[in-house]
Amino acid sequence: MSKIYPNIIDGTRDETGATFDVINPSTGEPAGCAVNSDGAALDRAVAAARKAFTDWSTKPWADRQQACARIAQLINENADELARLLSTEQGKPLNGVGARFEIGGCEAWTGYTASLELKPEILQDNEEGKVELHRVPIGVIGAITPWNWPVLIGIWHIIPAILAGNCVIIKPSENTPLSTLRLVEIMQDALPPGVVQALASDGGLGPQMTDHPGIDKISFTGSIPTGSKVMAGAAKDIKRITLELGGNDPGIVLPDVDPAAIAEGLFWGCFINNGQTCAALKRLYVHEDVHDAVVDALAGVAKNMPMGDGLDEASIIGPVQNRDQYNIVKDYVQDALDKGASLVTGGVPEGNDLFFPTTILTGVEPGMKLHDLEQFGPAIGVTKWRDEDAVIALANDDKCGLGASVWSGDADKARKLADKISAGSVWINKHGMIQPNAPFGGVRQSGIGVQFGVEGLRECTNVKTILS
Ligand code: NAD
Repeated sequence: MSKIYPNIIDGTRDETGATFDVINPSTGEPAGCAVNSDGAALDRAVAAARKAFTDWSTKPWADRQQACARIAQLINENADELARLLSTEQGKPLNGVGARFEIGGCEAWTGYTASLELKPEILQDNEEGKVELHRVPIGVIGAITPWNWPVLIGIWHIIPAILAGNCVIIKPSENTPLSTLRLVEIMQDALPPGVVQALASDGGLGPQMTDHPGIDKISFTGSIPTGSKVMAGAAKDIKRITLELGGNDPGIVLPDVDPAAIAEGLFWGCFINNGQTCAALKRLYVHEDVHDAVVDALAGVAKNMPMGDGLDEASIIGPVQNRDQYNIVKDYVQDALDKGASLVTGGVPEGNDLFFPTTILTGVEPGMKLHDLEQFGPAIGVTKWRDEDAVIALANDDKCGLGASVWSGDADKARKLADKISAGSVWINKHGMIQPNAPFGGVRQSGIGVQFGVEGLRECTNVKTILS
């Protein structure tokens, strides 16, 4: 039997219940196993969190900052173990923009967030009266996370929430629970019992969390259909929600670019984490004057990127994380080919493993799944454009609105176009480059609320005004 990674409840390792295997997508072998938490485990965690909240929420802000800074240090001290575990269950290589990068990001995000503060504001102070605005913790936050950047996204949910005085129960994805369980175990050294707890589940616990009366807010990162269910569940008792959902990000390449100079940036925009990234570039619109040169340069980068087992130091790209996602990407590529798109590199794979060749298609148009839906994998469709207004209209015509990018040799021109794009983040000459001081969230069906920076921290609080 493979190694058990226990739940963390009330500061201790909890192995109560049946276990389920987590599969290494590079090999098909078990990476370890996790406990399938039931309603009783959730009740125990909620009780511990509510108990811990009384003290934690009233601690001085500086004490909680210190605890978060200590967590950053603990991540640093355990970085190698966490990166290997992450690579084993997620498939992403240790190197490149992979597992070591993700764990480094966890330390950086934690360290930066620990420096933030929310101070009371005086909105009025005159002969008619005084109005103070305070940001107070919400209570117990249930965090539900996906399988693509499991540890980093876990940190995004946990650190601002506890800094603001809340307690967190995190439920990682059934596909990648192990590194989050271990991260939360490591954190216990910096925290009182019950402040951060982790519960694994092979599927059923998410709805129980949204239904639980002892949970005050759900912060959720995942797909749009699941986000919609979370919102419906949370509506029953008016829980707060933050939803970070799917994206179908457009990138618009103008005729004045140097194709060779942008090729690598475009590649990582499209294929970061094998394309399994919410804010990856998913629709690539290239002006007809530079279309062929940009596609050639992009394909040149793709063909030279080493793909292999995540734990092999030579790998830069790994497998797709799971069979369901692999089949979605396969279906979208086949659909585009059936409807007249042309293959530049890659294609529909025949093998039984989860290694999917990095795939680029041209002639991708609205009406093809690869254009209209989120592929969330290693395939990009290129669409040729001529008219600027038409391409902006096309870019904005989507139910998602997470990120977007403009690529140009003329900074002013690119900046003006950025104003016409409707998305939560617009990048210029790069794509998906999130950072801890820049609020990140989506418009339309890409979500509700933002994470990161002071704006993200505010989402972990309720507003309380005192009027005298
Ligand atoms: P998913 O929606 O299938 O699962 C996400 C989480 O929700 C998992 O932990 C899952 O167990 C849980 N869950 C499933 N059903 C639930 C329910 N009824 N109630 C509560 N929880 C439930 O998403 P995924 O496949 O793990 O992740 C991929 C998706 O996440 C993509 O659409 C991607 O764009 C999106 N994503 C968005 C962001 C962002 O910040 N906007 C970041 C990463 C991923």
